[in-house]
Amino acid sequence: MKKKEFKSESKRLLDLMINSIYTNKDIFLRELISNASDALDKLYYRSLTDKDIKVEKDDLEINVSFDEEKRTITVSDTGCGMTKEELESNLGTIAKSGSLQFKENMTQEEKINIIGQFGVGFYSAFMVADKITVTSLSVDSDQAYVWESEGADGYTITEGSRDSIGTDVVLHLKEDTENENYTDYLNEYRLKSLIRKYSDYISFPIKMEITHEHLVDEKEHKYEKHADVETVNSMIPIWKKDSKDVDEEEYNNFYMDKFNDFDKPLKVITSNVEGMCTYKSLLFIPTHAPADYYTQEYEKGLSLYTSGVLIMDKCADLLPDYFSFVKGVVDTEDLSLNISREILQESHSLKLIAKNIEGKIRKELETMMKDDREKYIEFFKTFGVQLKYGVYNNYGQDKDKLQDLVMFYSSKHEKLISLKEYVQEMKEGQDKIYYASGSSIAKIDSMPQVDQVKEKEYDILYLTDYVDEFAITAIQSYEEKKFMNVCDADLDLETDEEKEDTKKANDENSDLLKHMAELIGEVKEVRFTNKLKKHPVCLTSKGDVSIEMQKVFDAMPNDLGIKAETALEINEKHPIAAKLKKLYKKDKDLFDNYTKVLYSEARMIAGLPIENPTEISTLICDIISKE
Ligand code: ADP
Repeated sequence: MKKKEFKSESKRLLDLMINSIYTNKDIFLRELISNASDALDKLYYRSLTDKDIKVEKDDLEINVSFDEEKRTITVSDTGCGMTKEELESNLGTIAKSGSLQFKENMTQEEKINIIGQFGVGFYSAFMVADKITVTSLSVDSDQAYVWESEGADGYTITEGSRDSIGTDVVLHLKEDTENENYTDYLNEYRLKSLIRKYSDYISFPIKMEITHEHLVDEKEHKYEKHADVETVNSMIPIWKKDSKDVDEEEYNNFYMDKFNDFDKPLKVITSNVEGMCTYKSLLFIPTHAPADYYTQEYEKGLSLYTSGVLIMDKCADLLPDYFSFVKGVVDTEDLSLNISREILQESHSLKLIAKNIEGKIRKELETMMKDDREKYIEFFKTFGVQLKYGVYNNYGQDKDKLQDLVMFYSSKHEKLISLKEYVQEMKEGQDKIYYASGSSIAKIDSMPQVDQVKEKEYDILYLTDYVDEFAITAIQSYEEKKFMNVCDADLDLETDEEKEDTKKANDENSDLLKHMAELIGEVKEVRFTNKLKKHPVCLTSKGDVSIEMQKVFDAMPNDLGIKAETALEINEKHPIAAKLKKLYKKDKDLFDNYTKVLYSEARMIAGLPIENPTEISTLICDIISKE
């Protein structure tokens, strides 16, 4: 029979699995048990909502057995099973989302991290097995099917038989090698301890045949062996245990297993709430963003259990968008078991729980920011964009909740600080929060407009994410201090005397400046300024849309034509000012060329494109080759 090929990405991943890049091969068992448990959850939930499906809770179980002679380990479940199509689509493809791309020079560890983000689940069994046979009868089918694969070169699906609904996964263990002893797994004690270690919390019984020795004759020291089927796991869901009784490793293992992450979480948050609503929750903040986190495919949500029964895998209503990175479980008795999803959404209890959870996460993050800054920064570097997005989203309706969680780079401290910290350290006489935006810290630092503010020894927040300025605009003011873009035309940091000088220079040269503005066309105004320290020119903006914001709008696929209202400012103390005045009287053509070059310079410094680079470079050449 012809083998079907794995999709190419799956094949590469399988190759890695077979050549087992993970040092911890033990996890294959928890992955298979976790799949079995999911299948049991699904079947039970179906039985609650579909009257044609009759299931007794007592019949739901997982069975683990082994055969030393055949070198097999079998994990069976009485769960929902898989149809032929499901076998094909679930076990024929890995890396369902995103694409698995390894770079040539990546280390094993980096590869593991990437793989981890996709969740390899079932395929981890290829670390220990050279052949896997899955026999499954689906609740939606009358025919059982057998999926079989010997690794990367493909798999077959054939008709088979199974007495009842459920799945058997049979692993044919690899032969031992010099470094690896797979035979070790063919041992009752070993398997039992692996189940206890990684799968204890599974809410269905994981059964194994356990042999006992009985003393039958005391005098003769005669023992008799006999086997009993026993439940190996405690079956107490980890979120129902008192957090004092669970150690960190247990939480980490649960997280990695349930949410398919190969790295432990950055933070574990437990709650046990009674009162207006009653629930237990176990939440995790991942260390890394999942591979698909910033894509449309990512689905936020928490697993929702009612009295220990999973009723929804990813309940989106339990998490606001700005905390969409949080993973976890909520278990409540406030909801009825066979509640439909539509009614669930409207449920008052659910809303209350969601509100509580939101508050809890926020409080935990605030505490982390205060007490464990290093960890918070690590968190913020991964998920900060999401929080800043939350600040400005929905017309800033959540800004009060989030503004103390966002951080920006401070020019003075050369690291991220909070708005509170900025305001606390404001200098006497300073009444605004200054910020500057650009694509990198270094670029912002060399902006002409930054100098004047730095000279006053005011701190400046450097905004490097495209959402930053939108977030700041949404916050409007913090502790009654308004935000001020250093590129704003109304920066207003000159002394009265300087202002007077500037006004005079502008009045005296109004013709010249007007002529420049008309020639450029795009700017609202050209004026002399005192605010520049060493640079000859800069571009400033006025009003709601800054130059950086315009860049964001320009990059959008549907051009809304939103433009910043800009002005070209010329340093009155720079020799170029005198030169311009001279040329305006003597050589209008050359004056015009200077104007064009200076405007292009200002655009270049602001990071805006130059529309006519050939013309400008010819002009520059003309000017510099003149005697
Ligand atoms: P994941 O569990 O992360 O989705 P896996 O590779 O472990 O990824 O499994 C892929 C899919 O195969 C599962 O989502 C599930 O639909 C299906 N599956 C695996 N094992 C079983 C099982 N024992 N019973 C029913 N379905 C299963």
